[in-house]
Amino acid sequence: MGYKTYTCTIAKRCGGCELLAVPYELQLKRKQHAMAELFAEVIEQDGATLEPIRSMQKPLAYRYKAASPYAPGKRMRCGFYERGTHRLVYCKQCLVEPHGIRRILNDIAHIADDLHIPAYHEDSGRGVLRHAVVRKGFATKDVLLTLVTNGKELPRREAFVSRIRKQHPEVTTIVQNVNDRRTNAILGTYNKTLFGPGIMHDKLLGCTFEIGPTSFYQTNPAQTEVLYQLALDGIEGCGSLLDAYCGTGTIGICAASHARKNGTALNVVGVEQVSGAVGCARRNARANDLADSCRFVCDDATGWMNSQAHHTFDAVILDPPRAGSTPQFLEGLARLHPTRIVYVSCNPTTQVRDLATLRSAGYRAQSIAPVDMFPHTKHVETVVCLGKKNAKPRD
Ligand code: SAH
Repeated sequence: MGYKTYTCTIAKRCGGCELLAVPYELQLKRKQHAMAELFAEVIEQDGATLEPIRSMQKPLAYRYKAASPYAPGKRMRCGFYERGTHRLVYCKQCLVEPHGIRRILNDIAHIADDLHIPAYHEDSGRGVLRHAVVRKGFATKDVLLTLVTNGKELPRREAFVSRIRKQHPEVTTIVQNVNDRRTNAILGTYNKTLFGPGIMHDKLLGCTFEIGPTSFYQTNPAQTEVLYQLALDGIEGCGSLLDAYCGTGTIGICAASHARKNGTALNVVGVEQVSGAVGCARRNARANDLADSCRFVCDDATGWMNSQAHHTFDAVILDPPRAGSTPQFLEGLARLHPTRIVYVSCNPTTQVRDLATLRSAGYRAQSIAPVDMFPHTKHVETVVCLGKKNAKPRD
């Protein structure tokens, strides 16, 4: 049986899909092997099982969020930055994005050019249009377009919006985001809705979620459901849950909804430091009729944890950013004595480091499940379930 590979004419220069030339089956084998090596000590000492990596049946068109920078030129330029540079490589259609999403980004360059809206010039800091970001619903038909500008001024704003809407009637809302800092970060903090509701909705595991232009929301929704389901399986039967680093509350809300479907109750507290995301999480709880059982706190996870000596939770799910958690958070977490801890990670290297703290504080890793959220890249996400040492392992 021959392996299948996918081809992309700009793959070498773009660098986004660095493993594209490697057949998908081999990519998965390599990732599985890398996880076996990384978690070797945890597997050997704790007797944890390393599950087979959850793969995509068809590893294409999975990124429901796409972005393009814009740069001045004879015609305004757009696309992807070449690997390790700020040189732009044009992309007509990207294999890992849903069909049509790149067209919107490319057409914006043409429309801006026609209307003499200048692209941002990185070296001088002058110009207007810096980036555009398109996010598409997986379970809905919503399309949120964010136009990032170098200041609040957007010349020919109305004409710009009306041309985009005419060419792309599938766009359901357009937001202007202002980023006037000399930074590589795409988004600034100020948003102004130019058309439509300024937000979009999507569904994960049957729950509805509001997504704003600056909200964190996973980019591969199909695999996010797989990832979340693994986390929910890890806390099955628990009556109270701390969802730490909760973003817009997606994991905690899915868990509470799952419990309700099973006729049980689950009380959730979510902690997140970005206030906009916390507002979103509260609205999400209401939209799913779970406001009574899901409460969200805006705080630094470590600071909050250290003030919680008397709180008890049956289970804790933590999903920190790539840098991982902090020793203070993890030590505080162990002092809460939850029966179950599920650590969801987008960076298994920092996860292994953090697991050492939990393991020396009386927890034992029981299972490690890798999830392939980003086929054709080196990234792997992992869900590690832990229980107390000496506790009977769950079936
Ligand atoms: N569980 C969510 C979000 C995961 S991303 C989801 O699946 O969508 C990690 C989140 O941690 C981000 O929302 C980020 O804002 C938040 N975060 C990062 N550092 C934090 C800290 N020190 N305290 C609380 N939240 C933090």
